Amino acid sequence: MNIILLGAPGSGKGTQAEKLAKYFDIPHISTGDILRNSTDPRIQNILSEGKFVSDDEMIELVKKRLAKEKNGFILDGFPRTIAQADAIKSYPSKVLYFKIDDELVKNRLSLRRTCNSCKAIYHLENKPPLHESKCDLCGGILTQRQDDKDVVIAERLRIYHEKTAPLIAYYAKEGSLVEIPSDGTPEETFKKILARFGL
Ligand SMILES: [Zn+2]
Repeated sequence: MNIILLGAPGSGKGTQAEKLAKYFDIPHISTGDILRNSTDPRIQNILSEGKFVSDDEMIELVKKRLAKEKNGFILDGFPRTIAQADAIKSYPSKVLYFKIDDELVKNRLSLRRTCNSCKAIYHLENKPPLHESKCDLCGGILTQRQDDKDVVIAERLRIYHEKTAPLIAYYAKEGSLVEIPSDGTPEETFKKILARFGL
């Protein structure tokens, strides 16, 4: 079972990736992990200088990693371009596209608060802390991450749509796109995925 995940920031993609990895007992592979775990000194150099790895290099790294997985994988954060999608065409995959309204993403992310000490995540509506702006677990101070501020979210969504639209069209044409409405709870979304797999 090969699964590719597409979804906006705040779509719950990461949570579903973890659930799927457990359910199917296959690894959740993110490009961030591949880069961090690379032993290639050249790649480590690029990262330590805060630069980006080129499209071609990323493709090589991902292909090398996928070749090791005999029972399947869940790929997260790749492909981001049509060239990357072409490069892994030899792995027949289901492409889960987590569909969610931008307004809901903004609501989810802008009400999110993170503990400064233990990094626990709260949501002012869905998972409020017992005491305002204080972490239930460690008493740390809860703040809004820079990433979760409204203007930043709007820009992240704009870039996401611009980059992902061609991939959605690509996989829809190929017939491997599976649209998952992602506006419910994580449990509801997971049930929808399993249903689409006939489970
Ligand atoms: Zn805490």
